[in-house]
Amino acid sequence: MSQDKSITPAAAGPDPAAGATTESLDRYRSSMEWESKFYRDTAELVESTARSMNVDPNIRNRMLTPSRALIVSIPVRMDSGAVNNFIGYRVQHNNTLGPFKGGIRYHEEVNLGEVSALAMLMTFKCAVAGIPLGGAKGGVRVDPGGLSRPEKQRLTRRYTVEILNVIGPEMDIPAPDMGTDGQTMAWLMDTYSEMKGYAVPSVVTGKPIMIGGSKGRTEATGYGVAYCVAAAADHLDLKLEGKTVAIQGFGNVGSYAARKLTDMGCKIVAVSDVTGGYYDKNGLDLNHVLKYVDIRHSLNDYPRAEQISNRQLLTLDVDILVPAALGGVIDERIARDLKCRILAEGANGPVTAEGNAVLKEREDEVFVVPDILANAGGVTVSYFEWVQGLQSFFWSGEEINERLFRILQTAFNDCVDFKKRYQTDMRTATLMLGIHRVSEAMLMRGLFP
Ligand code: NAD
Repeated sequence: MSQDKSITPAAAGPDPAAGATTESLDRYRSSMEWESKFYRDTAELVESTARSMNVDPNIRNRMLTPSRALIVSIPVRMDSGAVNNFIGYRVQHNNTLGPFKGGIRYHEEVNLGEVSALAMLMTFKCAVAGIPLGGAKGGVRVDPGGLSRPEKQRLTRRYTVEILNVIGPEMDIPAPDMGTDGQTMAWLMDTYSEMKGYAVPSVVTGKPIMIGGSKGRTEATGYGVAYCVAAAADHLDLKLEGKTVAIQGFGNVGSYAARKLTDMGCKIVAVSDVTGGYYDKNGLDLNHVLKYVDIRHSLNDYPRAEQISNRQLLTLDVDILVPAALGGVIDERIARDLKCRILAEGANGPVTAEGNAVLKEREDEVFVVPDILANAGGVTVSYFEWVQGLQSFFWSGEEINERLFRILQTAFNDCVDFKKRYQTDMRTATLMLGIHRVSEAMLMRGLFP
């Protein structure tokens, strides 16, 4: 790794753009088009990390706000005949390393601040994984559970048309996120293709395999979490065999992480979903749990385990904890009570800023694999899907998995190198790696015009 002057921490000297920096930081704090606690926490973390690395102040400033934030109205005729007007967003944070990339979320609490924070995190996630993509995120403020399938299709098609001018295989490539899935991406791809007059599969990732999706995409994020846990165990000189695991959230990420960790010899002792937690200190029968969820679509009243709360699950005495549901679940108090040796963040932003401050103090007890590394498996296989689509040449499941494993292992090792070089905690080191790669590329490309 090159030790270049822009990231040399010591002897910062006078900051040539210090005035401008302070001014623009104040501006971003007070104007706050994208105001939310999540955005503020994320921007402040990026700002302080970039500052500690001595990143060029002009570059640092540009990283704190998105390149473009689009707000759209989405009129949709409901099955009742009424027309409802939904609000949607597409935020593009940074495309220095490649086209913008990020999911589309349908959730009743989606707002510009949340989408902007997630877009910023995507920029650094792609950079940490070393893939040539930038960061974006989209969303529509809607309860997807309250929509019929035809309503969801009409919403998706109209949203696609509203953001049509800013997306495309070379420009910005959406993907599924909470509340959206392969079917949603198929509608998005179809609408985009109809408007262009020819099929454009590479405009989205996370598509069904039949229309150009990639093998291994469904499993990718959960498997990636497990690969990062394996890398962390190796780093800590721990054997995975027999290690106990608790997983919060048993959806896509949580369930595939559970499968892979079980394959690796771990014992899943607790899982949870929105209905609560289920615990057996001797280990759950994962196949039975998976079958139960397959039939009932939730863990509700799962019979072969003791019922616990989601909060209790987080503080169980286990070797490995995987939060794989919502953001902000590990606050200051829970962070103090964590008993796990490895915390692998499947969810985006599961630890609050206050929780993070505690985890920094407890660094020797709890080894953190931060979200932008632990859940980067999803965007990595999305990248594979995009590449395969552009080439119209598809890879086998084994090739995908092997490449995913290699990319995450390399990323993990690069983060550990930064951790050693800067004598810092794993979350800061990971963000440093992302910021380093993006800021170096920005400096090299220069400012237009
Ligand atoms: P999902 O919708 O498939 O599963 C979410 C799970 O969390 C469900 O089991 C749900 O019941 C549970 N849940 C919801 N509210 C909860 C609560 N209050 N307490 C406990 N559990 C609760 O979603 P997913 O795709 O698995 O995503 C989970 C997390 O991982 C999200 O934060 C998402 O942003 C992040 N993530 C997902 C991917 C991906 O490829 N799917 C990639 C990167 C990050």
